[in-house]
Order: sequence, then structure tokens, then C-alpha cells
Amino acid sequence: MPETNHRLVLARRPTGLLDESTLRLESAPVPEPAEGQALVAVRYLSIDPTIRTWMNDAPGYLPPIGIGEVVRSGGIGEVVASRNDRYREGDLVFGMVGWQEYALAGEGAAGMQTLPSGLDPLAAINVLGVTGMTAYFGLTEVGRLVAGDVVVVSAAAGATGSTVGQLAKALGASRVIGIAGGPDKCAYLVDELGYDAAIDHSIGGIARRLHEEAPAGIDLYFDNVGGEILNAALANLAMHGRVVLCGAISAYNEATPPPGPSNYVNLIVRRGRMEGFIILDFADRYPEAQATIVPLLAEGRLKHTEHVVEGLTGAGTALNLLFSGGNVGKVVVAL
Ligand code: NDP
Repeated sequence: MPETNHRLVLARRPTGLLDESTLRLESAPVPEPAEGQALVAVRYLSIDPTIRTWMNDAPGYLPPIGIGEVVRSGGIGEVVASRNDRYREGDLVFGMVGWQEYALAGEGAAGMQTLPSGLDPLAAINVLGVTGMTAYFGLTEVGRLVAGDVVVVSAAAGATGSTVGQLAKALGASRVIGIAGGPDKCAYLVDELGYDAAIDHSIGGIARRLHEEAPAGIDLYFDNVGGEILNAALANLAMHGRVVLCGAISAYNEATPPPGPSNYVNLIVRRGRMEGFIILDFADRYPEAQATIVPLLAEGRLKHTEHVVEGLTGAGTALNLLFSGGNVGKVVVAL
């Protein structure tokens, strides 16, 4: 058993993207599990845009990461020592492991979820984990997806978006349109993931393109981006259209919030609804979503892709990829 736990702590709050001053690599002793705890060797970190929001000194749905604290992050690890019957050596667990090599699993808020044996850890961190849950409950509960809906999703080639589009189709949407950056991602959406159309946001003219692709309007817009793209979707809502506010990645690096979408008034004209959510609120219902997703995976109707960055010290670069659009699918760091 190694004696040193390498870990990345928040050294300075970033303005914009992370740079070399944001993180500090530290060496600490590998923690000893107390009674009721297990020692977990971290294998994969889930790199999520929300980590960037936790680095700001601003109120959110979780407190900011403190200066000098290990960067908060979900991830998958292997139990390597245990003083808790719930965790057995060799088990793979998912939990808030942090950007470090070793973490402690315990009870309550420190609890980690044991993964079924034989489960692909990359599927567990992606479509069968928080990403898949976000897509499923965002579509079904918040978006109230019904068969025949015309669905549009932004950041459509990313982790959440790529699952949203495929799930919407599998659950009966009549037409699924993805918005993504660049021709390669757009081709990937249509050719590989079965989207009906893709719109390249780097070209501009998004509102016009949405009108061309959804002339009768958008029934369900799943928003991962905010800003101009949200505004363009609002301009194209169908009657009783629903806007699911999942994320606003275009604003996460901004020091001051951008102005709100002026086209919100179309919610009045179209009798629409716009609602946000945090996936943690659905935690006790994850098995429901997994029961839908597992067969779709088995039938090959739901594909998942991971963009794997090697090594703990690559975590900051991996997080930045989400903002430059340098990823297709779920960004993970492999330790
Ligand atoms: P993704 O894998 O989708 O990566 C982010 C993508 O966002 C990039 O690949 C890029 O794609 C796109 N993007 C970044 N900046 C911009 C911009 N300025 N304009 C347009 N597109 C941009 O990340 P996730 O799937 O992990 O997260 C997607 C969203 O879902 C985030 O907003 C996240 O915060 C949110 N989320 C919310 C949850 C909740 O509980 N509400 C839970 C999990 C995620 P491209 O190259 O196409 O521009």
C-alpha cells in the first residue's frame, strides 16, 4: 500500500478558465480508515461543469470549495481496506471522492454507492450515473416528454446532451435536433447517434436554423448552455412548449451574470413553461431511470462515449475542455 496520497487542492479562485495558479498538487499521508469507514483508491474522476461553479466564492446549491481544500468531485474508486461491513475489499464504489488518489467512504453524507459487480465503470460514471439520470429526469419529469414531441438539446454532443437526444428518440420524440459546436460534432450527432438534424452554433443564425428544422416550433428544449442559444430556442417555442433549465455552461466562466433572455416573453404568447432542476433531488428515484436505460444499452439503442484524460494532474485541463468544447461525450480522468 503506498504511503502518499497525492491530491489537488484549490489554491486560488479562477477568473475564467483554470490556469496554473488555480490548483496546487499536495502530498499527504494515505488516510487510515476509522471504525465504520473504508479506504477507497480512486480510479476515475467525473469531470463536471458544476465543479467550476463550486470554485467561485458564491452561493450555490452546495457551498463553495474552500481555499486549500481538495477539489470536490464525484468519481469511482475501489475499496482497498474496510472497517465497515457495507464495503468489501475489491468493491467498486461511486461517491464524492475528490481530486485525489485515496478517499474515505463512510456513512450518511460520506456514504458511497457500491456498484453491481461486472458493471462497466465508464458506463456507471456516465449513462448509468449522474449524467444519465440528469438526461432521463430532465426529459421525463421536468420536460414532461410525450410521444410526438419535437425536442431540441444544446451541448448535444456532450455527456448529458448526447444521452438526452438518444433517450428522447427512444421515448417517442418525433424529431430530435441537436445544437453543437463544429461540423464534426454535428455529423457525429446525425450519423452516429441518430439525431434527425444538427445545428452548428459556431456558424451563428441559430434562431433561423431552428425555425428551418422545427417549423411548427419546439415542444421541449433541453438547455445545457443558456445565453444566446437559450434565447434562440425561446423564440421558436411551440404552443405549450417546455424549457428544461439543466445548465448554463456559457455563463460559468463569467465574472458577472450575462443579461437574461429577452425572448422569455414568448413563454407568455406560447403559454410555455421554463423550469430548472438539480438532479440530486431525484436521487431516490435513480433505479427507475436505470430500469429504462439498461435495456436500451443492451439493445444498442443508447450509445455512450467517454473522453478519458490520463492522470490526476490532468484534471484541471480536463475541466477546461468542457468550456472549449474539446470533448465528445463524458470527460473523465483515469488515475
Ligand atoms: P458536456 O459534456 O456537455 O460538456 C460541455 C459542452 O458544453 C462542451 O462540450 C461544449 O460543446 C458546450 N459549451 C461550452 N461552452 C459553450 C458555450 N459558450 N456555448 C455553447 N456551448 C458551449 O458537459 P456535461 O454533460 O457534464 O454538462 C452539460 C450541462 O449540464 C452543463 O451546463 C452542466 O452544468 C449541466 N448539468 C446539470 C445538472 C443538474 O443537476 N441540473 C447535472 C449535470 C449536468 P460544443 O462544442 O458543442 O459547444
